[in-house]
Amino acid sequence: MRPMRVMLQPVGESDWQLLAKLAIRLPQNLPFVECQVSPKAVSLPTSAITPRRQWLANVLLAHLVIPQGFDRIVGVTNVDLVVPPFNFVFGIAEFEGKRAVISTARLIDHNAELTELRALKEVLHELGHTLGLPHCPDPTCVAAFSNTLADTDRKGPKFCLKCYQRLLISWQQQCSEAQQKD
Ligand SMILES: [Zn+2]
Ligand SMILES: [Zn+2]
Repeated sequence: MRPMRVMLQPVGESDWQLLAKLAIRLPQNLPFVECQVSPKAVSLPTSAITPRRQWLANVLLAHLVIPQGFDRIVGVTNVDLVVPPFNFVFGIAEFEGKRAVISTARLIDHNAELTELRALKEVLHELGHTLGLPHCPDPTCVAAFSNTLADTDRKGPKFCLKCYQRLLISWQQQCSEAQQKD
């Protein structure tokens, strides 16, 4: 099994320090991942803005292009994301796909470390969905659904053992399927 290569893609104005920290911490929490930050931000598609000054998460997601040599791309933006009919979303992902996007708009705290931890949880959560992981009933597992910031703060930055095993199997399967095609 080879590592899953994840590109963190800044979208719009970006907190480069936060991105660099995320790239270090992601593999610590998901050991089969290798992570890099794209050196260049992509701009926010103006077609994604809503009258309430939120951004349509699906449109942002569709704009992300997986760079060569990478398995996943995760957009990171500081604008507020929405998927109608919800009021907002912390992030979205293609289920069993390759792309995800998260927003830090509602995660910011005066304590930068807390902001980072929250963003880390959101990225891990969305990466789980790209590997076909559904929401976990264990509220302390990072795969648990977050409806509020309190939900995000309650869960840890780790997958429970069951979820982690599912992720490993899913990634192993994707690797062996790709090998058979070669
Ligand atoms: Zn989710
Ligand atoms: Zn779990």
